[in-house]
Order: sequence, then structure tokens, then C-alpha cells
Amino acid sequence: MARFTPDKEVAYDLRMTLSNPPPSTPAGARAIVYGGSMAGLMAAGVLSRHFERVTLVERDRFPNGPMPRKGVPQAQHVHGLLTRGMDILAGIFPGIREDLESAGAEFLDVVETTAMFGAGSWRPRFHSGVSAASVSRLVLEWVVRQRLQALANVRILDGREAMGLKTSGDRTRVTGLQLQVPGGGQEETLEAELVVDTSGRGSRTPQWLEALGYPRVEETRIHVDVGYASRTYRKPSGFEPGWRSLALSPQLPRERRIGILQDIEDNRWLVLVGGWLGDSLSTADDAAFLEFARGLPQPHLYEAIKNAEPLGPIHLYRFPHSQRRHYERMSRFPEGLAVVGDAFCSFNPIYGQGMSTGAMQAEALGECLHQGVRGASERYRRRAGEILEGPWALATTGDLGFPEVQGKRPPGFGLMSWYGNRFQQLAGYDEEAMRTFARVQHMIESPTAMFSPRMVFKVLTVRPDKAAQTPGPLPLAVLRARATG
Ligand SMILES: Cc1cc2nc3c(=O)[nH]c(=O)nc-3n(C[C@H](O)[C@H](O)[C@H](O)COP(=O)(O)OP(=O)(O)OC[C@H]3O[C@@H](n4cnc5c(N)ncnc54)[C@H](O)[C@@H]3O)c2cc1C
Repeated sequence: MARFTPDKEVAYDLRMTLSNPPPSTPAGARAIVYGGSMAGLMAAGVLSRHFERVTLVERDRFPNGPMPRKGVPQAQHVHGLLTRGMDILAGIFPGIREDLESAGAEFLDVVETTAMFGAGSWRPRFHSGVSAASVSRLVLEWVVRQRLQALANVRILDGREAMGLKTSGDRTRVTGLQLQVPGGGQEETLEAELVVDTSGRGSRTPQWLEALGYPRVEETRIHVDVGYASRTYRKPSGFEPGWRSLALSPQLPRERRIGILQDIEDNRWLVLVGGWLGDSLSTADDAAFLEFARGLPQPHLYEAIKNAEPLGPIHLYRFPHSQRRHYERMSRFPEGLAVVGDAFCSFNPIYGQGMSTGAMQAEALGECLHQGVRGASERYRRRAGEILEGPWALATTGDLGFPEVQGKRPPGFGLMSWYGNRFQQLAGYDEEAMRTFARVQHMIESPTAMFSPRMVFKVLTVRPDKAAQTPGPLPLAVLRARATG
């Protein structure tokens, strides 16, 4: 099997399964999705089961391999696909786990194999049943794109930019999309019964709708000024620290810096150092990167990379604010239009929710189409708004804990933050709490699981002194021996 090397275009030997035969009783003849990143690929995969023909429009020219491209600059940074997101992805593209494995990904139990330092202590490590793919975002997107390309009723139109919506004369219904080759090439209009915007946080749907006479969509922004600096390293041979990945999280809001080392395909590490409220690197400087890593709450990340071989430059990314567009609240909205992914809601990336929430929305869109295309936009935007509630609350509770971060604190915010902090302390030594936390974080269990009577009792009687302060990550071999002995 061909493998990815950072500066070569290669083709993977994937099983090009035609997983979705075109629908026998389609909801409609034609759908268009514009924006060919993760949300767009998943939405197009879902729609291929409901429409005779689906066209995916992407402004970039897709590279022939897991290569970076202009429209997705974040792809060179750590990306974790949560278990829930992976489950949905595997529902859209059956067999994709195996395809990812063929491309070098490994599915690992996150609690067992990641050494996590959070809330001032090392988390217990054990087999939790919560697993995630150890894979770079570049390979993930590339594998998903190949699966979409293999669907018989999907056409991919890359190198085309969506320029505006085509509507019915009374503007109550979107009937197509205007396209152009970027840079002012020839214009073209495609007709469709459903147009889906997956063009990311810079989506121009709010302006397009306003120009068509619709109200401006309300937007909530939480200014977090998060900065990422990421670099890929070769995993040093013989380095056996007892963990596969490493996550050093700050105690919010007292600390602001985070460090993550993600084990990715082909014996590489993707290392991120960053922080909230401007506490991040502003230049891609080798010495400053290492110095930042050295300043993290624990030395393990620095120790791992200080003599490791970098495989490329340092990439920087500045994320000014989380952004939630309240399409669900609009008093009027055209038929035939849906917004999925970051175009609807773009989360602080540190919480790793974007792709999974996009997957949940894509899945919901499919469910709304079971009753037909008519009314689907309306059903979908309300459902999508509901889907966002939980992840948005989870992400913003952490961010709003910083007194400097502006934004409306919901009623009971102080109590929730207090409970959340105590829960984190509990997860420092209690396996049940740690498992619950991992399941909630990976969206396979509702946050209410953290509030069961049993958990509340444990949280109220938490003993922070019981958490591991010194031993750091335990070798896997030791854990396995303990488990079997
Ligand atoms: C630094 C960083 C780290 C992140 N880490 C994680 C993580 O760990 N886990 C996670 O789940 N999520 C993470 N995210 C979020 C994740 O990247 C997105 O949620 C994910 O890419 C899905 O976004 P999307 O497809 O909606 O939009 P995007 O990924 O932004 O893609 C939009 C696409 O639309 C195209 N496009 C834009 N305008 C047009 C147009 N007019 N016509 C045609 N095409 C157009 C672009 O070229 C691009 O391909 C992170 C984000 C950042 C910034």
C-alpha cells in the first residue's frame, strides 16, 4: 500500500466501495453542496442517498493526495474527530474505518493511550471503551474525499466558487447556485431543489440572504483569541514513554496554555502549542516553539520533542472568536437552502467539536429529508439549532470562565463552573468519573450523565489530594500487567 510522505503526492490503495447506491425513491432530482471540506463531504455523502444527483462545488482545486490547500489552512493543525463524529462518518461511508486504517490511521482507546494532564493532575489511564482515530486531518479529509468521489451519483466540481443563490421570482425558494472560476472566469448557474452551504465560517449566506430581503441572521460571538502553533516531528525510534499521545491542559481560568502531541500515521507526531487570549506564539520561530513547550505545566511534551526531528515548518493559526449564527431563530428563511458545519457554528477549536457537530448536522439533514424536500429546510434549521445547544454550552462554559472574555453568562453559570471544576478534580482519580467525562466529551453521552445522583455525591465529596500529582504517565506495559494480573 502506498503511504503518505509529507512532500509527495501519492495515491492510496483504498477500497473504492460504492457504499451508497443511488436512491431507488429519491426525495429530489438534484442537490448542490458548496464547500468541499469535512462538512461538505459528509453532507454530500448523506444527500447522495436522497437525490438522484449531487454536485459538490469547491473553490480550491483538490490536490491528488493528503496535501494542504488554501481553503482549509487549519488542516495542518491537530484535529481530533470525536467518537460520535466518527460513528456518523462510518454510517455515511460504511467501511471507512478500514479505509482510514489502510491509510495509516490507528483506532486507540483515548483514556488508555493518551497521557492527559488536566485540572492540576494526571488522569487515570485504563481501558475506557472510548476510541478515536490517530490520524492527521489531511489524511482524514483525503480518505473521506475518495469515498465521496467513488459514489456514482456524486459529481465533484472543484476550482469553482459559489457566487450567489438563484431563487424563485418571489424569492421564497432557492432554486440554484451561481458559480464562477475563481479570479473572474466564466459564470455558470446550476439548478437544484436543495442547496447546502458548507463554505465554512467565512460563509456569505448571511449577506446573500439580506440582499434577497431576508433579515440578517443573529450572530453570537465569544472572543477567545486562541492561537495555535503546530509542527510535525518524526517519532524518535526507541522512545517508549508509555503513552501514544499527550494532552497538557491548563486549569482554566488561572492558566491559558495548552500543549498536545498527537500520534499520527507514518510514525509521526503532530505537536501543537497554543493558548487563549493571545497567550500563543506570534512568529514561527524554532527556539520560541521549544521555549513555549518548556513553559507548559508539565515537562513531558518538551522532553519528547527537544531532540526529535522536525519534518516541516511551524504553522500558525489565529482564531479570534467562536461564532454561532442563529439560523434557527430567523422569522423567515427560504425553502431549498440549508447551512451545515462551520458556516452555521464555528467553535473554539481547542474543544475539538467542529467536525463532529458538522457530522451531526449532516445526519440531521438526511433525517429531515425522509419527509421529502418540501419543508426540509425549515425542519432542518430548527433541528440544527437544537444540535448546537449542548456542544456550544460545553465549549463556552470553559471560555466564559475567563473574566476577560465578554459574553452573556447563562443563569447558574457560577454554579456550573464550580461543579465542572470539581468534576475535573474527581476525574483526576476516579475511573467512573473519567470514563463519564470522556464519553461526554466524545458526545456519546449527554452532559446530564455528569449530574447523576451518584456523580453529584462523588463531586460533593471530592478529594483533590487523591489525584496523581507526581507519577506522570504510566507505561502501557505496566497498565496491561495490572489489568491482567
Ligand atoms: C486550528 C483549528 C483546529 C481545529 N481542530 C479541530 C478538532 O480537533 N476537531 C474538530 O472536530 N474540529 C476542529 N476544527 C474545526 C474544523 O476544522 C471544522 O469544523 C471542519 O473543517 C468543518 O468545517 P467546514 O467543512 O464547515 O468548513 P471549512 O473546513 O472551513 O471548509 C470550508 C470549505 O469551503 C470552501 N469554500 C469557501 N467559500 C467557498 C465558495 N464561495 N465556493 C466554494 N467553496 C468555498 C473552502 O475552500 C473550504 O474547502 C479546528 C479548526 C481550527 C481552525
